[in-house]
Amino acid sequence: MTRQEQFFYDNAGWSYNPATQTEEQGRIECAKRLAQAELEARAAGISYSWDREDCDCEEKDHNSYYCMACDGDTLVASLGMICGPTREYRRVIEAELALEWSIERNMAETRRAQQYASMAGYAACGVYA
Ligand SMILES: [Zn+2]
Repeated sequence: MTRQEQFFYDNAGWSYNPATQTEEQGRIECAKRLAQAELEARAAGISYSWDREDCDCEEKDHNSYYCMACDGDTLVASLGMICGPTREYRRVIEAELALEWSIERNMAETRRAQQYASMAGYAACGVYA
């Protein structure tokens, strides 16, 4: 594991598919995906901003935050009610938003590719000829 992956292995939550992997494999996969998303978002210039917000949780005397991930002026992912986050937890949140952005972006690319493929198919059949 890289240092980044190790960070997420140690600090992030994880899930796993009991049908196809062990819990440890799932934990490693989640760490790798978060580390990958963090790098991808950094390379793409995704920025994060943190704002205070009120929360109504049971914990006393803490600050609650709302985090937004933006691509330029466009909001691409966000999460609120982040209560009393540590530095590590903030990084995990940002990576989770980066992952959400990355998945969304890949789906949009797949949709575009499918659209082009079907347009090419029509063209081949002479529909657009
Ligand atoms: Zn709270």
